[in-house]
Amino acid sequence: MAGPLKRIALFGATGSIGASTLDVVARHPDRFVVDALTAHSKVDDLVALCARFRPRVAAVADAAHYAALRDALAAADLPTQAMAGHEALAEIAADAHNDTVVAAIVGAAGVASTLAAASAGKRLLLANKESVVLAGELLMAAVAAGAATLVPIDSEHNAIFQCLPHRGGNADARDASVRRIVLTASGGPFRGWSRERLAGVTPEQACAHPNWSMGRKISVDSASLMNKGLEVIEAHHLFGVGTERIEVVVHPQSTIHSLVEYVDGSMLAQLGQPDMRTTLAVGLGWPERIEAGVAPLDLVAIGRLDFETPDSAAFPALGLAFEALRAGGSTPAVLNAANEIAVSAFLQRRLAFLGIPALIERTMERLPHLPSASLADRLAADAEARRVAASLLATMADATVRPA
Ligand code: NAD
Ligand code: MG
Repeated sequence: MAGPLKRIALFGATGSIGASTLDVVARHPDRFVVDALTAHSKVDDLVALCARFRPRVAAVADAAHYAALRDALAAADLPTQAMAGHEALAEIAADAHNDTVVAAIVGAAGVASTLAAASAGKRLLLANKESVVLAGELLMAAVAAGAATLVPIDSEHNAIFQCLPHRGGNADARDASVRRIVLTASGGPFRGWSRERLAGVTPEQACAHPNWSMGRKISVDSASLMNKGLEVIEAHHLFGVGTERIEVVVHPQSTIHSLVEYVDGSMLAQLGQPDMRTTLAVGLGWPERIEAGVAPLDLVAIGRLDFETPDSAAFPALGLAFEALRAGGSTPAVLNAANEIAVSAFLQRRLAFLGIPALIERTMERLPHLPSASLADRLAADAEARRVAASLLATMADATVRPA
């Protein structure tokens, strides 16, 4: 009944989204086979997944680990072919051996494989939001040119995808019936905290999200509200909505994953557990609904749904993202790259929590706005922003930005 087998290429297989994807895939051997698995450098984890899912090919982005991967696959007597390097990842994303690509690499490093999958007309399950922030115009052009089907995996965008009208397989908020979209935010582990209290928070506190279990980078982004900022930019590109038609509301229960408001006053919401297997099952099965292993929601146990305005003074990152989106051009790429440097420095205890938005703001002030949307220009803006942010980091000495 399930139709022809779908052949999955999973980018970022060793991560949090990677694990949730494979959990859903393993529930449906009649629907899915794994064609390719990729990781950054964790060879042992990748080979363990290969032993379980027996893909045609496995790749590490860091080419220094190629020999280790090849030898470990051979030692495990697996038929899987080893590949390495970012060009190999883009090649796998475009390869006709697979029809469904899960883009779950963290950071702008995912952009080449994400674009390649869109151009090749794959079904693209898109979790890698940073690549949308870096090159959203190019991505949407590649989706149109390749006639790809894009299903957002970010829970908010997946909710909006489910609530919007669909044209040619893709969700579109440009329909005259749609008034605006509302992105919900949990508020993260520091919701309600003052700037003074935020000054001393640690990576462990920032990564302890109240509702979701996720990779470390997105956990810090959720704590600073930069995650919501990146998601506003993501929504703009994915659904064709301007900033004036995007609202952000804090909703601490993370039960409503986002909403669409129509001109007749109706608001459609998608509700569910904070479990990414639901959004991945939507992406894998769409337009069919498939079992995801997720427990049903108990509305009575939840009891109430609360909503608040985000605190833009304590969490300036959200405002910076709106500012970058209004500026357009290369500015969102600069915001994203500076954030990647800032989060990594925070996780290494070289930058305080409040230093994250401070470093991003200073990097944005330093760099010119470039209107070009070419990939080469965007990658150049990304590289320049990383360089500037790294050098600013070394000069930031005041107590608000240096860890105690
Ligand atoms: P993670 O850190 O758990 O996993 C990241 C994966 O990317 C790993 O497999 C890692 O090997 C790979 N990777 C890291 N750097 C790489 C590089 N330079 N080149 C190639 N591969 C690289 O991250 P995650 O939480 O699974 O998030 C993945 C993406 O999904 C992020 O863009 C995140 O914002 C988005 N997302 C995640 C969640 C979630 O619940 N985890 C929810 C919404 C969106
Ligand atoms: Mg999200």
